[in-house]
Amino acid sequence: MSHTSLINEVRNKISGLSKELMEVTSRLVQFPTVVPPGYIDECVAYAQSYFQQRGITTTIHQHVERKPNLCATIPGKKPGKVLWLGHLDVVPEGDHAAWKHPPFSGKIAGNRVYGRGATDMKGSCAAAMIAATVLHEIAQGEHPTLEVWLTADEEIGGQDGAKWLAESGKFQGDVCLVGDASGGSRDRPTMELGCKGGMATVIKAQGVTAHGSQPYLGSNAIEKLLAVIPHVKKIGEFPLDVPTELEPVIQASIDFLLEDPSLTPKQRDGTRRLYHYPTVSLNIIQGGVKRNVVPDKAEATFDIRITPGCSITRVRDRMLELLKESGVEGITADINTGRGGFYESPSHPAVVQFRKTIQLVLGKEPLMKLSTGGTDGISVHHIARIPCVTYGPIVPGVAHTPNEYVTVENLLNAAQVFAAFPLVYTKE
Ligand SMILES: [Zn+2]
Repeated sequence: MSHTSLINEVRNKISGLSKELMEVTSRLVQFPTVVPPGYIDECVAYAQSYFQQRGITTTIHQHVERKPNLCATIPGKKPGKVLWLGHLDVVPEGDHAAWKHPPFSGKIAGNRVYGRGATDMKGSCAAAMIAATVLHEIAQGEHPTLEVWLTADEEIGGQDGAKWLAESGKFQGDVCLVGDASGGSRDRPTMELGCKGGMATVIKAQGVTAHGSQPYLGSNAIEKLLAVIPHVKKIGEFPLDVPTELEPVIQASIDFLLEDPSLTPKQRDGTRRLYHYPTVSLNIIQGGVKRNVVPDKAEATFDIRITPGCSITRVRDRMLELLKESGVEGITADINTGRGGFYESPSHPAVVQFRKTIQLVLGKEPLMKLSTGGTDGISVHHIARIPCVTYGPIVPGVAHTPNEYVTVENLLNAAQVFAAFPLVYTKE
């Protein structure tokens, strides 16, 4: 069978599976795989039996109890190996009263599946399970080997999931399709070339304790911290050295976000600066022990995000200068420069072939963007050194919120693209 007719056959087969896509998503959602603690063993057992019942080989790679990572393999006769990566852990569901349907009901209503994890990213995992099954049934190995990885701990950095798998050499392949993203719509598909990364920063103030009745005898760490914070925030005005090849991708990402009509002028301004300057968010503040004790310790934790390809050490050096310029004494900083983001060049063969896949399946060229939030692609790209493309059925704006849902249209698009990519991908 020719290449294109195989892709058509796979696509047609999947277009008849919308009910199964919704049902498998619903089943996955019904396992409350909330992290912490992030136990996914029962959910993995379900996915494993799903694959096994369809004659697909699976292996388990487990670092800690109750956090098995599952790999399902569709052997191919063509050279190379394509990985698909997703996670089964979900963030806490929050107040149940805020949910229209119980968060772990996996309620199917109309063309939507509701529940914690429906969009981020059990819907995507269900789409990959069905894509792999259809490929297994139809393609008879006329593709490179496909491995579908369903993993733990993404929402906490992948420590016993993708990060551990990458560090321990379990990921071996030529390209990785990360399913943790929005793929836009059929009319206007989108893909991501990578994601921003963090420069987690903890600013610590050291003072001298004293009795609260004679504060002049001490040196108040909270006041020092408050004095230094405006200087730390100035890092948000430091222009980043964005790689030239990313400028069109960044512009497309900004334009895409600016289409949201609900943005206020201030939010629009923040969106325009999003990739050319670091974002700075003061997210934890700690200090003080008692009303009548002058505090000798206080600390502030900042989430600082940087566009991939930009020098993190440049940003760190500027931060150290800002701290010095502040003139506040007793300040130290823990700056983590190790978790940068990543991107693949728009001209990378993996990107070119993935664009072609979307074009063949959905009939439209995808818009190329960069994600603002991190994904497990960071571990795959930096540690396993496998190029990553990112695409999935996530509904924008609903991840991590009450009444999270995914639509059957998004599931169908994703399953078709996931199944077609191994058919298109050719190892160079
Ligand atoms: Zn996710």
